[in-house]
Amino acid sequence: MKNKAAMYKLSYGLFVLTAKEGDKHNGCITNTAIQVTSDPNRISIAVNKANYTHDMVMNTKKFTVSILSEDASFDLFKQFGFQSGREVDKFADFTDCKEADNGTMIITKGTNAYISATVISTVDLGSHTLFIAEVTDGDVLSETSSATYEYYQKNIKPQPKPAAEKSEGKTVWRCKVCGYEYEGEELPADFVCPLCKHPASDFEKVIK
Ligand code: FE
Repeated sequence: MKNKAAMYKLSYGLFVLTAKEGDKHNGCITNTAIQVTSDPNRISIAVNKANYTHDMVMNTKKFTVSILSEDASFDLFKQFGFQSGREVDKFADFTDCKEADNGTMIITKGTNAYISATVISTVDLGSHTLFIAEVTDGDVLSETSSATYEYYQKNIKPQPKPAAEKSEGKTVWRCKVCGYEYEGEELPADFVCPLCKHPASDFEKVIK
């Protein structure tokens, strides 16, 4: 590939993907919801197998994607993106939500619509599963513009502090997804961001 940065020019929306298994609600941030056909109305989502939500969708076949809008707070991304439903109940103290017809949660603040769907087909992609699903319900929640991944990077994610006038020459590796900083000359190749779980390839070297 002449320039891998070409991949960054693809535009993506951002979504909270929610599922319910037994009494347990869970959700995670994803950028992979796409309408694939309009008649019948079907969408696809690709979900990392490491996500707890992945197994819940696999087992129950039901999910909702709440579409994040430009007024979504960074706290909302932290709530659903930077912790695992295996360790915490993401809905324990979370009130900006209501239950959809299929029993999964709709996020009602920082979102402009939701789409509920039932899985009809899966494709094993190794690290991810591609779910193809029939849309069963959906509604518009606000007229605020949808947040793209680019919008998140420029306007929602906290910007790194400007370098001090006199550089200390300290090297850090900054996660391009969430902004986490690892201090050290070399970032281990198998390093995984402790906040958002993205790999070493999503870090950039910064001299402070
Ligand atoms: Fe990160």
